[in-house]
Amino acid sequence: MKEILTKDWHHLEVNEIEKIFETDSSEGIGKEEADKRIGQFGENKITKQQQQSSFMRFLLQFHQPLIYILLGATIVTLFLGEYIDAGVIFAVVLLNAIIGFVQESKALSAIDSLSKSMTTQAVVVRNGDRIKIEASALVPGDLVLLESGDRVPADLRLTRIKDLRIDESALTGESVAVDKKQDLLEKETVLGDRTNMAYASTVVTYGRGSGIVIATGDKSEIGKISGHISSAQDIKTPLTVKIEKFSHQLLFVILGLTVLTFAIGLLRGQEFTEIFMSSVAFAVSVIPEGLPAAVTIMLALGVSKMAKRRAIIRKLVAVETLGSTTVICSDKTGTLTENQMTVQRIYAGDQLYKVTGIGYAPEGEIQTEGNKIKLADHQVLNECLQCGLLCNDSKIKKEEEKWKLEGDPTEAAIYVASIKGGLDADNIHKDYPRLEDIPFESEYQYMATLHKVADHTIAYIKGSMEALLERSDKRLMGSDKEEEINPAKIEEAAKKMSSDGLRVLGFGSIIFDSGKEQISHDDLKHGVTFLGLQGMIDPPRDEAKTSVHLCQKAGIQVKMITGDHALTASAIAGMIGLEGEKEENGKLKAYTGRELSDISDEEYPDIAERIAVFARVAPEQKLKLVKALQSKNNVVAMTGDGVNDGPALKQANIGVAMGITGTEVAKDASDMVLTDDNFASIESAVEEGRGVFDNLTKFIVCILPTNLGQGLSIMASIILGMVLPILPVQALWVNMTTAVLLGLPLAFEPNEPDIMDRKPRNPDQPIMTKSLVLRTLLVGFLILLFATGLFHYELYLGADKDYARTVTTTTIVVIQAFYLLNCRSLLKTNMEIGFFSNPWIFGGIGLMMVFQVLFIYVPIMNVFFHTLPLNLMTWLRILAAGALVYIIISIEKYFRRKYKNKNGERNK
Ligand code: ADP
Ligand code: MG
Repeated sequence: MKEILTKDWHHLEVNEIEKIFETDSSEGIGKEEADKRIGQFGENKITKQQQQSSFMRFLLQFHQPLIYILLGATIVTLFLGEYIDAGVIFAVVLLNAIIGFVQESKALSAIDSLSKSMTTQAVVVRNGDRIKIEASALVPGDLVLLESGDRVPADLRLTRIKDLRIDESALTGESVAVDKKQDLLEKETVLGDRTNMAYASTVVTYGRGSGIVIATGDKSEIGKISGHISSAQDIKTPLTVKIEKFSHQLLFVILGLTVLTFAIGLLRGQEFTEIFMSSVAFAVSVIPEGLPAAVTIMLALGVSKMAKRRAIIRKLVAVETLGSTTVICSDKTGTLTENQMTVQRIYAGDQLYKVTGIGYAPEGEIQTEGNKIKLADHQVLNECLQCGLLCNDSKIKKEEEKWKLEGDPTEAAIYVASIKGGLDADNIHKDYPRLEDIPFESEYQYMATLHKVADHTIAYIKGSMEALLERSDKRLMGSDKEEEINPAKIEEAAKKMSSDGLRVLGFGSIIFDSGKEQISHDDLKHGVTFLGLQGMIDPPRDEAKTSVHLCQKAGIQVKMITGDHALTASAIAGMIGLEGEKEENGKLKAYTGRELSDISDEEYPDIAERIAVFARVAPEQKLKLVKALQSKNNVVAMTGDGVNDGPALKQANIGVAMGITGTEVAKDASDMVLTDDNFASIESAVEEGRGVFDNLTKFIVCILPTNLGQGLSIMASIILGMVLPILPVQALWVNMTTAVLLGLPLAFEPNEPDIMDRKPRNPDQPIMTKSLVLRTLLVGFLILLFATGLFHYELYLGADKDYARTVTTTTIVVIQAFYLLNCRSLLKTNMEIGFFSNPWIFGGIGLMMVFQVLFIYVPIMNVFFHTLPLNLMTWLRILAAGALVYIIISIEKYFRRKYKNKNGERNK
């Protein structure tokens, strides 16, 4: 292929485009050619604009109030001539920046790699074969097929258009979808008016079309302006923002107290250096510097945990919100059911037939009253089966002794039924070549195909029973015998099938004259001849039953929102065990879309909460349901797959898109994508969400007392005018090491066994409930008591100041290590959750002890941190203090649990 010189593709005829790109608007290019071109033009990917260089991100680590204090302290300490201290403080600042940078990078890359794992696919024609490929493999000249819900994968000159409508807001900002047309356009036409083109990253909202790729990757229109598009993931969530705010507020309190300390010191007439050092020590020890970064990394860890359970998180906020979900609104087909369809019953010409066999193997027969039928004697059945065979885009094939389907399971089931009935697929396809079709869309609930026969054309239509009854005025009753339709009779037959949970489809045909080559919704408004009904089972997923049960036990309502018939929906919902308002006959009450449209806005929220099954629901009603539920303070997770589900997915607190059957549009609007379309994965994600939140709480409850205890110790010594029990560098050491080694291991704490027995967390409830604040205060005071107590005891025994301070530091670290064991569960004992169920805890404690021993016994550390080696007796006293704290908190937990049980709060 030669160099391309033009830019005015909209001003060129399709055949000129074909020539330039050496391609064909029905066959596409060949595979070898495509491989060659990918070398020439590169992959169809937009080079990511680096949002922030790594260096910038590293520098930003210093842009924190605490670091300012520390940098200030470094400078003043330098002036005071304390070079070693200045060096150590600065080293800690650097270390902190490095740790923050590494954690942030890890969080970012975890999220990034997940979004990458969700690639966009494109359907192309190569060598005349329709194939699905990664969008990144597209090359100029490729023939791309588009249908509603697709994201246009590259810039295209459209070659065929069928009611094609594209939302170009991503490119032009214009939010009204554009109608595409084939006409040649003036050279000067601006981008937004080039109706014979489709541009990368815009979205097909309706219809179908095809086009030849004229530009890929950075050469595409969107690629040229990609600088404007933010590809950066927001790693801030309401929680991290709250914590950041909290630490900022804390800062002012601390600064105030620091000034106070300073003033007290001055009043006492203490030495300036001493006062300054105490103030710095105070500020350093109280601020929980590791907190915001640790929370982000814990949320990111949640993302990867959920990915392992088949839920891909697209927005970090979701991890947080999932834990407080109160309602899950789920699709039926494929999510709660297997989407493995088999036609079991057929109703045609007022006769009922049974179909034997299961799955997609074309092995089985059609029977009446237990006997195999001869198709020739059943004309109407024959027509009904033929309609199912022709108005069908699926195929089945045998792979390694197993029959597999290609296409939509509903259609494959219908195809298989036709084969079981004895139809000869190849011959029928030859005799009835397809001229045109209207593909299935949930909105219209039917699909139609137009076929050429000798002296006329015939359209076959299949869809929901309602869609067919609306369009039919006659009904086929025998060969060439038609009679006027009697809807009540057909509805009766459909009802019998639906109440057994069968998914029922209606079939019909309509004859046109031979000149007809195209077909539209208008042609099918009436005049259809009704042929029959087919009912198929779609068994509920076993895992769905368990998961629904788990959710309901956990105080989460589960609702089924489906496009299917009310009776089918209610029968399946019953089999799965949904809880909701029931009818007198004990069946779950289902509201249909039609009934919903008659309901006033005031009644909506109430009905949305009471009812569990919503059938024949239109996408805009999904949106209304979400809003209604939210108005009652619910946190709603809602599934969706179609083009029109976008608004509902966005409105929901957690929009859940289907990874397999979902359209690109739905995925884009969602917060989470299920790689297996399975309801059980939503439940797992909720469970993980709760776990992450639990661990976050444990982490915070675990590290705050150290800050408090240290701060109190220093404060007390200043107020009482006593020797400082811990130096700034030592306080820094404690803060830096304990948050990472004695805090983060909690991120790996397995979910507690009763995690799905509690009610959902109220999202407005603060993390630190009253009882947790009390515990923090208690532990803080215990640290104050033991650390300063042992400090003064050592002084009393005649020890050196440095020795006593080493004791304070070590005591705080040891107490923290014991308290970490307490924090593994907020209320349960270690025995209950399994002493060794989280090896990271012991890894952390072990490593911390190694560090602490180095801190105490290595000469150079003695110089840096003003420490001295401790003797055995001292160690025993320190360990005893730690064990005592463990015991005291265990007792506190025991009583709190008893109290909670009595009051029937939260935990069972
Ligand atoms: P859901 O996925 O919630 O079960 P859909 O919106 O996919 O519902 O389908 C709604 C109705 O449209 C079905 O009950 C069925 O009657 C009809 N239908 C589904 N798939 C097809 C198809 N491929 N061709 C024709 N009609 C269909
Ligand atoms: Mg569906």
